[in-house]
Amino acid sequence: MRVLALLDGTLADPEIPLVRVDDLGLLRGDGVFETILVVNRTPRELDPHLDRLARSAALLDLPEPNRAAFERAVQLVLDNWAGGPEIALKLVFTRGNEGGDGTPTGFAMGTDISPKVFSQRGEGLSAVTLERGIDAGLAERAPWLLLGAKSLSYAVNMAALREAERRGAEEVVFRTTEGGVLEGPTSTLIAARGRVLTTPPATLGILPGTTQAALFRAAKREGWTIEVAPIAVDDLYAVDGVFLASSIRKITRVHTLDGKPLTDSSALHAELADLYESEY
Ligand code: PLP
Repeated sequence: MRVLALLDGTLADPEIPLVRVDDLGLLRGDGVFETILVVNRTPRELDPHLDRLARSAALLDLPEPNRAAFERAVQLVLDNWAGGPEIALKLVFTRGNEGGDGTPTGFAMGTDISPKVFSQRGEGLSAVTLERGIDAGLAERAPWLLLGAKSLSYAVNMAALREAERRGAEEVVFRTTEGGVLEGPTSTLIAARGRVLTTPPATLGILPGTTQAALFRAAKREGWTIEVAPIAVDDLYAVDGVFLASSIRKITRVHTLDGKPLTDSSALHAELADLYESEY
């Protein structure tokens, strides 16, 4: 099922072409997006997602997204959804037509969540580490690389997932040239050691995750220690649990990395999943 709402407050038929062939989002991946989890008609972390959409747009020198128009489009999708209890809600905002008047293209679209996501939430997944060509100082040195912006240029991220599949795994952990952990192509990495949760700093040029932030909020409230600090890939074999977090997959446990089993984190995963759900 799909429900599509436009920024002018109208619904559109997702089966009918909407975007022009000269849209710069299409021609150059020149735009930004967000993917939000909706459960029982309630979007999770809507404000942080809208904040990040605005931040990504600013990094690309796009006009500021009209927040009220996006909120209205989100509501329109929710009001017209007749599918299951969970929705993957995508917000898209592009630079608009090439040679046009600069009016961005924007929409909100709700879709079903793939069955694979549901099984990975329960069973965990295997991942491989892949290099990303990023060293620890690159994001600061080269802001034009848009590291940390959620831009529509995700072809590299998708190619990395296909490479993982070729290597017999389901997911990717990107690493720096120095062997540090970055993030997944569409997820944030969290390592757990006892009651300490660690995630790498966004200053490495990775996307600050809204799911990781929600989990850390809940964990802190319950007395866990949370830290944002560099993690070496080699350390992932010594910790009590490695997780990939994102809006749609929630907190998913990694059971195998580069073909080697990680510490069994099933019990820890159940605790973290409960902590995350306690936020809603
Ligand atoms: N990192 C990247 C590169 C992503 O694309 C995403 C989400 O798709 C995340 C991290 C996780 O972000 P969130 O938890 O806000 O969905």
